[in-house]
Amino acid sequence: MKYTPIIGLEVHIEQNTNSKMFCGCSAEHFLVKANTHVCPVCLGLPGALPYANEKAIENTIKLGLAFTCRIAEFSKFDRKHYFYPDLPKSYQISQYDLPFCAEGTFNSIRIRRIHLEEDTAKLQHTTVDGKKVSLVDFNRSGVPLIEMVTEPDFHDAESVDVFLKEVQMVVRYLGISTADMEKGSMRLEANISVAPGELPITELPSYKVELKNINSFRFLKKALEAEIKRQTEALERGERLIQETRGFDEKTGKTISQRVKEEASDYRYFPEPDLPPIVIEKTDIEAIRHNMPEFPAAKRARFAEEYQLNNEFIEVLVSEKSKADYFEEGVELGKKVGLSPKFIANALVNLKLSENMDVAAFIKKLYEETKVAYATHEETERAIHAVLVANEDAVAKYKNGKVEIVGFLIGQTQKELKGKGDPKLLPQLITSQLQKK
Ligand SMILES: [Zn+2]
Repeated sequence: MKYTPIIGLEVHIEQNTNSKMFCGCSAEHFLVKANTHVCPVCLGLPGALPYANEKAIENTIKLGLAFTCRIAEFSKFDRKHYFYPDLPKSYQISQYDLPFCAEGTFNSIRIRRIHLEEDTAKLQHTTVDGKKVSLVDFNRSGVPLIEMVTEPDFHDAESVDVFLKEVQMVVRYLGISTADMEKGSMRLEANISVAPGELPITELPSYKVELKNINSFRFLKKALEAEIKRQTEALERGERLIQETRGFDEKTGKTISQRVKEEASDYRYFPEPDLPPIVIEKTDIEAIRHNMPEFPAAKRARFAEEYQLNNEFIEVLVSEKSKADYFEEGVELGKKVGLSPKFIANALVNLKLSENMDVAAFIKKLYEETKVAYATHEETERAIHAVLVANEDAVAKYKNGKVEIVGFLIGQTQKELKGKGDPKLLPQLITSQLQKK
């Protein structure tokens, strides 16, 4: 019997806006003294009224457009209720039935929705004066958080990895988040089940296992592989799998059960009465679309076509927008001094030349290095002279119209110069000496 993994993703991206989602507090919360970036709104005090961060909405639409989503012209925020100490209002302002973005795609993967919500406070479980306590830092409470949900269109861990790296790259191209996994600016959750049979699978399994608290692409890939194996083996033994949440144990390389879901949570969603619905004009959406950067996929295709670079070079250059821009500025400057795009790409990728160096200085340095690598003008002229003296036959043949003999003389001169002749200059210099004979 064949089994097919069915995997869907939820990706949280914490935005890098200056202020929080529904108040004016600074959204910075790394290495900041606890509970210093707070106000009645993000502390959830009674009577405090939220107002929406326009920039955060624009960022969300940008990400939606990057993944070809339909952008809602009429949208709203909703209250999602649950009780946990990191949520002072006991509800989170999120979006329920009218997310800003829906029905996007990336290659064969369908994006179900991209919505905007507020982050929760941060809990720290620690010991103070010998007592086990949980400390709450509200600096993160109310920071704009994007949630992207895909359809269960992945069937192996590798394509999940490729997709997530692309999302991270696009987010960074847009400059809307650092998307750092270690800092929690990008958080991943996967749901996975295994269906008997081969693609296309018409009926999804009745259970889903949620993989949570995974803090790197590498661990998610390992966790998915371990989970596909565990579920497939269980089904082969005729066992029934259950709906549950599992984490990944890095030491054993296995997933472990954390929580068995009794039933679907009831979040009692209802429209946020303190925020008016959001109307987004078509012209605003088009204006945002108009200002989008060129994305990695388009850049890859263009770099291959325009500069004839190999995939390995392209991946390194396209990995960060600043790197790609640097390369292209270098190509423009390099053109003027005869440095090819391939040569510049090679220097950037292999020699790991510092990108902190000003582009013009970088190209100047490269140009000087190439000059040093070649023999000097006098050395070259001297070598050509010696070659012509030693090959009188060839010179005579040239005089009789056999111009292709120049190729032979180039080879001889290179030998004389131990390969240090500038291939762009040799034909010209040899021809000019021959004509003087
Ligand atoms: Zn605040």
